[in-house]
Amino acid sequence: MKITVIGTGYVGLVSGTCFAEMGNKVTCIDVDSNKIEKLENGIIPIYEPGLEVMVKRNYDRKTLIFSTKLSDHLDACDIAFIAVGTPMGDDGSADLKYVLQVAKEIGQNMTTPLIIVDKSTVPVGTADKVRAAINEELEKRKVNIDFDVVSNPEFLKEGDAINDFMKPDRVVIGADKDETAEKMRALYSPFFRSGSARLIIMDVKSAEMTKYVANAMLATKISFMNEVANICELVGADVNDVRIGIGSDSRIGYSFIYPGSGYGGSCFPKDVKALHRTAAENGYEALLIGAVEAVNDTQKLVMAKKVVKRFGEDLTGKTFAIWGLSFKPDTDDMREAPAIYIIKELVSRGAKIKAYDPKAMHEAQEFYLKGINEVSYCNSKYEAIVDADAMILLTDWKEFRIPDFEELKTQLKQPIVFDGRNQYNDKMMMKNGFEYFQIGKQPLK
Ligand code: NAD
Repeated sequence: MKITVIGTGYVGLVSGTCFAEMGNKVTCIDVDSNKIEKLENGIIPIYEPGLEVMVKRNYDRKTLIFSTKLSDHLDACDIAFIAVGTPMGDDGSADLKYVLQVAKEIGQNMTTPLIIVDKSTVPVGTADKVRAAINEELEKRKVNIDFDVVSNPEFLKEGDAINDFMKPDRVVIGADKDETAEKMRALYSPFFRSGSARLIIMDVKSAEMTKYVANAMLATKISFMNEVANICELVGADVNDVRIGIGSDSRIGYSFIYPGSGYGGSCFPKDVKALHRTAAENGYEALLIGAVEAVNDTQKLVMAKKVVKRFGEDLTGKTFAIWGLSFKPDTDDMREAPAIYIIKELVSRGAKIKAYDPKAMHEAQEFYLKGINEVSYCNSKYEAIVDADAMILLTDWKEFRIPDFEELKTQLKQPIVFDGRNQYNDKMMMKNGFEYFQIGKQPLK
């Protein structure tokens, strides 16, 4: 099929590349000419394992091309995916300005029948708005071209996006017409080796809702466990044991019940807020969803509070090594990362920071911690700990899992570790002479 993907970010670039890998002819469009120029020169603007080699392979065999001009790439196109950002608006709802701008451009430029797919995460009712925006432009042009709007929310996880897309747990298609659903089924069938049982077809509104509910459910598990961790700590229980104890119940399961420094990233924070807002707009106060967000806001600063409790309110003259900046491992994405909040809190109390992250330091320097002179960036995790008063682990990158504890002890001014992801065994840490603080368990004495 001939496919155009509009918006070449995490979702657009991964989706477009994977569709090309399956033999479709794909054009990825973006308004960011810098990004498109980089891609045409083989430079991948994001870090995502396995993506670079796949982009290059498809670019070389011309199944994947890049452009800034949507108007040149809608002729004889079968399916156009909208994969632009849907950031949080001032009132917490999803801001649809980029989606509707693209819809308008499609209406202005389409020449042949087309399926338009909302792949961006968009609230219930957006497909109707996209349809209306396209119709308005077609009417202005006084042309009548057949089109349909489909919802196909994306469930890929940054850091494992290629795998998620190539071997999906499920693909959700919201289509109100059977023939459109069949075309979408044909597009996705190569991704399901054992038939298309996991291709779930439903009406458009239910598909739009499914994405928000999935993210809100996962965020709920995280906030629930973080709240449990805070209670465990107060009553003298060990959340790590509690986690294993409850996870063994197959109705609960082990995934997404790790306590930590709160969720971040480009999706959970904004999608939880947007669902809360959708409920409010429809006259319903979503108490649980509101609480998920409130717990997370508090949790992001739990590690900073532990540092203050140990070192005092005024952190002037103190230096902290930060291991991990991205909101989760295997990505350079720092959107809403707990590290941003913790670092700002420590700096506001006079501390200096020596930060190290395997992939996200550029993002931190250029955007999220830009202009904060108290933060310096190190070439390795061991460089970051030299003469620091303590090490604070914030992202569970694999390279932090079994560090050289002797080196850690030697280089730190004092052997103190704050672990925002519960990576180490506290008995082992105590035996090795560390003062060790984790989430959901009082430090051993
Ligand atoms: P992103 O910010 O990485 O990429 C969006 C891209 O769209 C940018 O490159 C931007 O320049 C481009 N763009 C904006 N307006 C445009 C226009 N008029 N024409 C062409 N390009 C335009 O965003 P993302 O992380 O890929 O997310 C995209 C959507 O997918 C969001 O709705 C998000 O919630 C959803 N989503 C994201 C993830 C994820 O893990 N990142 C997972 C599932 C769903």
